[in-house]
Amino acid sequence: MSSGVRVRFAPSPTGFFHIGSARTALFNWLYARHTGGTFILRIEDTDHERDSDEFLQVIFDGLRWLGLNWDEGPEVGGSRGPYFQSKRDGVYREYLEILRKNGRAYDKEGAVFFKISGGPQVIHDAIHGDVVREEEKDFVIFRSNGTPVFHFVNVVDDIAMDITHVIRGEDHLSNTSKHVELFHAFGSSEPIFAHIPLILKSQGSGKMSKRDNGALVENYAKQYFISDAVRNYLCLLGWSPKYDREILPIDEIITLFDICNVNKNNARFDEKKMSHMNAEYIRALPFNDFYERATKVLNDSGVNFIANGEAYAMNVLRICQEKLSSLLEVPEFVKYFFTADFDYDRKDIEKLRKKCDIGTRLGEFMEDLPSVNEFSEKPLEEYIHLLCEKYWTTPGEYIHSLRLALSGRSVGPGLYAMLCVFGREEVLRRIDRFLSEV
Ligand code: GLU
Repeated sequence: MSSGVRVRFAPSPTGFFHIGSARTALFNWLYARHTGGTFILRIEDTDHERDSDEFLQVIFDGLRWLGLNWDEGPEVGGSRGPYFQSKRDGVYREYLEILRKNGRAYDKEGAVFFKISGGPQVIHDAIHGDVVREEEKDFVIFRSNGTPVFHFVNVVDDIAMDITHVIRGEDHLSNTSKHVELFHAFGSSEPIFAHIPLILKSQGSGKMSKRDNGALVENYAKQYFISDAVRNYLCLLGWSPKYDREILPIDEIITLFDICNVNKNNARFDEKKMSHMNAEYIRALPFNDFYERATKVLNDSGVNFIANGEAYAMNVLRICQEKLSSLLEVPEFVKYFFTADFDYDRKDIEKLRKKCDIGTRLGEFMEDLPSVNEFSEKPLEEYIHLLCEKYWTTPGEYIHSLRLALSGRSVGPGLYAMLCVFGREEVLRRIDRFLSEV
């Protein structure tokens, strides 16, 4: 049973899908889910010159990627369609007639004007409280070429689609007194308005634009972000679950979210925080899910991860999952597991050389290795400790030297886990190669 709450996301397909628009869609969706209401997608495509099907697809894909399913709108239908403004001309003509009949529309210089009732206006906003706006002047509702303008179609559709709450960006607050006038002129009461704060770019005072890093939703999908992490982060741009909590499942957010506890102040976009949250989500993925995502990235970048069998690929990815901060890193992070033909990072080698004699440590490691019967983490760790006592040194010297010899680099999964995944023979082969080449 629907609660009667009807909210809409009303994008104009004139540009790519911006993070700020996604956040507006998200807050509408959250409110609909919180109240058991209906979330409507309406396409405001009246600006024919700038509208494009490509942008439309990007919006649909972005909403779906974020899991923001709509209950009425394009591709799903509904009883108040069509949901494209470009297909609602008949509706707009009917509504214009209402204004003509009650004396609120008049023609001037080929255009149709709306006659305002006059006087300053107080807008009641669920987030900003009462906002006093200056008196409006009569304004155009149909251009001389016969096309209706944004204010008119926006309000007509909110009436015709029985919208109860208008949740949109604060940049529209300045249009709202025109909209309230129109609602009243049609004999309708206005919906509840909630203007959500702007998103500022990570540095400086400006509003985030589509040119800023991290501004476009489609790029997150391309960079293999976890969509739940992006959605979780977007929830925090203007809203907070209190008690310093930040990472929480969407069902809990739906329960806690309410329009009246959205912040008045502008929110600042923080790319680092978004990435950090994404890393947390990667770590928390069930392994099978992680495996599927990671192997997709490997496939896309042409790493042959299956040559040694799937069990081996799983072992490799299992020990890397908690060390990754992004799925984009996967190929670089694991490549050397799947080929013996990798380069050594000469800078890392030089750095380590200043601290210890790599060749000597590797030689010592190999010397008594046959005494380690079981090539697994615990015995290997004990073995390294024995070597440290024998040669008066620290585990770090063996660990760093071995890591460089096995992988060519100084970052990666835990060394003991790595030794086990390679197995004794491969470890010895790689050390030999290192000693002969470096
Ligand atoms: N098409 C408008 C926009 O993209 C929608 C405004 C509204 O939500 O009322 O900004």
